[in-house]
Amino acid sequence: MSGYQDRTWRPATTLVHGGITRSPFGETSEAMFLTQGFVYDSAEAAEARFKGEDEGFIYSRYANPTVAMFEERMCLLEGAEAARGTASGMAAVNTAIMAAVKAGDHVVAAKALFGSCRYIIETLLPTFGVEATLVDGTDLEQWKAAVRPNTTALFLESPTNPTLEIIDIAAVADIAHVVGARLIVDNVFATPLWQSPLKLGADVVIYSATKHIDGQGRCLGGVILSDEEWIEEKVHPLFKHTGPSLSPFNAWVMLKGLETLPLRVERQTATAAMIADYLAGHQGVARLIYPGRDDHPQASVARKQMTGGSTLIAFELAGGKPAAFAACNGVDIIKISNNLGDAKSLICHPATTTHQSLKEEARAELGISGGMLRLSVGLEDPDDLIADLDKALGQSVTLHRGASLETA
Ligand SMILES: *Cc1c(COP(=O)(O)O)cnc(C)c1O
Repeated sequence: MSGYQDRTWRPATTLVHGGITRSPFGETSEAMFLTQGFVYDSAEAAEARFKGEDEGFIYSRYANPTVAMFEERMCLLEGAEAARGTASGMAAVNTAIMAAVKAGDHVVAAKALFGSCRYIIETLLPTFGVEATLVDGTDLEQWKAAVRPNTTALFLESPTNPTLEIIDIAAVADIAHVVGARLIVDNVFATPLWQSPLKLGADVVIYSATKHIDGQGRCLGGVILSDEEWIEEKVHPLFKHTGPSLSPFNAWVMLKGLETLPLRVERQTATAAMIADYLAGHQGVARLIYPGRDDHPQASVARKQMTGGSTLIAFELAGGKPAAFAACNGVDIIKISNNLGDAKSLICHPATTTHQSLKEEARAELGISGGMLRLSVGLEDPDDLIADLDKALGQSVTLHRGASLETA
């Protein structure tokens, strides 16, 4: 088997050819190595492999050829030295954080996080003697005030879920490095196409490959990318001994997903920008948050660190929860789902689904109101999506007016 790579390729080329290792059959498409283990020519060969004197594969919990192709393609795209594919996005987050802390350490994270990330930092880490401080990620003074000599990791996502706040990655990386901590960035919402955290100074980037990388709502997966030394010394032992490994089947699906990632994300972003403009002009919409627009609260940070907008839109309906529910129930093409990054457009009401487990005050602090909806824009025709929303929002506006007439 022989692999090849070329770090001068532009992303679209890398995403089709990067990291391929062909078997002696010379297959065109990436081979799917659905195998748990590997056989050795002799007892001596097995011994050499276990001693690390021979580079071959040992067991798919440690490494697998199809998973390795996915990892290599992600490294080329992200400009990372090394990567490990994981069973899910949460396996990537958890393994990256566990690799960065030990009892007695301290972690600082932005408050606006994907629900399960917040659980790991706020609830799980303290049970292992790791203290955590949550800050408003957009306020650099809070990051500076929170870091301590024993802070070993800073964690953030940008744009955030679901309010699409933008955090200045380069500035937070500088704050982390003053105390020798690693900045871990969850880059799911930005996608590897619109933001490269490692180039901005972050030390580790993680993805839920479940989202845009698969892009068609099929498999769970994730990936951790960083420098070779940290991956080999801190992350690899966790793979070997705790098993968050990516299935070769799912890695194969993700490889096929990566081939079309730019086509999908570019189209979804262009459609999202059109829908954002439409929503901004709708009388029932009290607030529209879209990272590609000049009226975004952190528009200047977005311009500095992102090369594209977003496939996601957050908006708040003036009529509160009744209007938001009516809008969800009024759409036909757009489906109600908490997932995102799919070919199908998906809408969700964060306050009652993805962020339901947060306390009321925590939701208010993050700006997740009863009227807020998150829309993940898919690959449908933009005009059909706008027509679908127009029909649904018309209903919600009527309902809101009806409600206010009754209370008037
Ligand atoms: C979905 C998601 C995760 C978790 O990924 P899974 O693949 O569902 O485990 C983590 N972070 C963000 C921002 C996500 O959107």
